Amino acid sequence: MSLLAIGSSASRLSFKSLRNASLNYPRRFISTANEEFDVVVVGGGPVGLALASALGSKTELQNSLKIALVEAGDLSKIRDWSPPPGTFSNRVVSLTNASQTFLQDIGSWKHVEKERTAPIEEMQVWDGVSDARITFSMSELGLPASSDGMARLTETLNLQRSLLRHLNITPTVELTDKSKVMSITSEEIPGGWPLVHLDTGRVLKTRLLVGADGPNSPVRSFAKISSYGWSYDTQAIVCTMDHLPKGPFLSPNTTAYQRFLPTGPIAFLPVSATASSLVWSTTPSLATALKASEPSVLARMINAAFRLPDVSIRYLHDRILEAHQSGKPITDEEIKAEISWREQSHSIDRTSAYSSVTTEASASPGIPPLDAEMVPPTVTSIQTGTIASFPLRYNHTEAYIGEGQGSRTVLVGDAAHTIHPLAGQGLNLGLGDVECLARCIHDSILQGGDIGSYTSLLPYTQERYFENHKIMSACDKLHKLYHTTSAPVVQLRSVGLEILNELDSLKAAIMMSAGSVSRTDRPLSYNSDTRAAMFNLAAKGVENIRTAAHVAGVVKSGLAGLAANVLQNLAKAASSAQQEQRKDV
Ligand SMILES: Cc1cc2nc3c(=O)[nH]c(=O)nc-3n(C[C@H](O)[C@H](O)[C@H](O)COP(=O)(O)OP(=O)(O)OC[C@H]3O[C@@H](n4cnc5c(N)ncnc54)[C@H](O)[C@@H]3O)c2cc1C
Repeated sequence: MSLLAIGSSASRLSFKSLRNASLNYPRRFISTANEEFDVVVVGGGPVGLALASALGSKTELQNSLKIALVEAGDLSKIRDWSPPPGTFSNRVVSLTNASQTFLQDIGSWKHVEKERTAPIEEMQVWDGVSDARITFSMSELGLPASSDGMARLTETLNLQRSLLRHLNITPTVELTDKSKVMSITSEEIPGGWPLVHLDTGRVLKTRLLVGADGPNSPVRSFAKISSYGWSYDTQAIVCTMDHLPKGPFLSPNTTAYQRFLPTGPIAFLPVSATASSLVWSTTPSLATALKASEPSVLARMINAAFRLPDVSIRYLHDRILEAHQSGKPITDEEIKAEISWREQSHSIDRTSAYSSVTTEASASPGIPPLDAEMVPPTVTSIQTGTIASFPLRYNHTEAYIGEGQGSRTVLVGDAAHTIHPLAGQGLNLGLGDVECLARCIHDSILQGGDIGSYTSLLPYTQERYFENHKIMSACDKLHKLYHTTSAPVVQLRSVGLEILNELDSLKAAIMMSAGSVSRTDRPLSYNSDTRAAMFNLAAKGVENIRTAAHVAGVVKSGLAGLAANVLQNLAKAASSAQQEQRKDV
């Protein structure tokens, strides 16, 4: 019998000894008779709820599957979540059109409060050292102006609440919250089913156990599925920022901005006309110092991080760190004076959008400065209680399906993979897993198969593992490429980004691979192989730039030519892949 211990001293006892010692334990730990299910999903995060919704909404499965979802937290807090208008929670995800289409198909998207979501109609991404910039717009992707954006920014709570509302009218799923999985064992017979032991004393026996239980997945430990990965030694600071509305001569607040600083990318994600969400990946020490400062200091530093040259940003970071270490955090007046001096020394005009110490430029109702669309609106304050930070890491399991003692288990979402949020792909990958797994379960039942068997689950792992791996490794490479100030790399990536800006087909390929185009809107009939091939090309381009930088560092010549060749070949390959595809349509 295998046994998983999670945290508490009670859970470290074997299940048998726990049962024998039941008189000495609180009643909530005493086991009752096993209850049998076809599917038990552990984890009521967005991925677990989406899987339960997807399975529950398939009419063919409604009479054939008994499903339970177990969540340690209190789901009523999400169900009853009702924030005051104008305030937004700090966890916001960018949902691709493919993810939205999937949620529409299962019937949960209509329960999302649309007024609290915002489309992304343009993305501006630039290098913090060279300032080379790449712009993604809907028209460049061949999306009609009437499209609902390239992606949609949605609070995770809004999404989870919509899934719970959908599950409310899906009677085949039993939701069990405030119940922590304490251990998982398996029946002591050949091919025995997993037994899920809850801290309430219930034991759920299941034909298929799904781990949607996040990065520290108990299901993954039970199934002894190993994983590999690394910490980025980076914290993502998140918060909700208030800012002035954009003036009448500017585009609406539907542009996402991301600047790649050597310490990590900073992203500005619009959620309404006057509020946007921050994801700022930076060093743990700076994250600690910024969180300990007054919120107005963070607001000023966000404005500076999108505007000032890298040399000044580095100076400001050092000032904040020194002040924090001395026990006297920098004050709002001090940081304002520093930024003002830096703006003057870089000859930044007070009426330019690059000036943030005064809000003259963004507050003016008249003709905006010419550079107004180059940077996000000036942040005026941070919404109370929204500042937090999360450690970032890369992690991918060796497999998605358990074998041997861990058979009849499968992993989805962050339980299987965690990535850097720089491309906003983590949850989208998880929803891709859910879509595929629900289809495999459905097909297995229609074919009279055993949904917990390796054969039934194999198509899931075949379809998802490498698809996820490609996107994960491309994001990882991007992070590493931009996480340096080394001169050859900076020069190459500057050339690379400028060339990329001209290559519509390549941009479309990258966006397509990232799932930004909905299935119905795709201009060409991209199948998953083409998507994968295109993403491979894009990822290889980034890899080649790094290799080229290494070579260039040795020969000290031909940097620009080297990068240009790499990217031109990449573009040619991408557009010929598209032409091939067109022939097939
Ligand atoms: C700063 C930041 C920004 C991000 N931005 C984006 C973005 O723009 N787009 C995007 O697609 N992704 C984004 N992501 C990634 C995304 O947030 C995650 O991929 C997603 O939340 C994972 O969902 P999940 O349901 O798999 O896991 P989780 O949300 O971790 O849920 C796991 C659940 O399992 C439960 N659980 C764990 N152990 C037990 C147990 N023993 N018993 C019972 N229940 C248990 C937990 O309580 C939890 O509710 C971002 C991540 C970060 C950190």
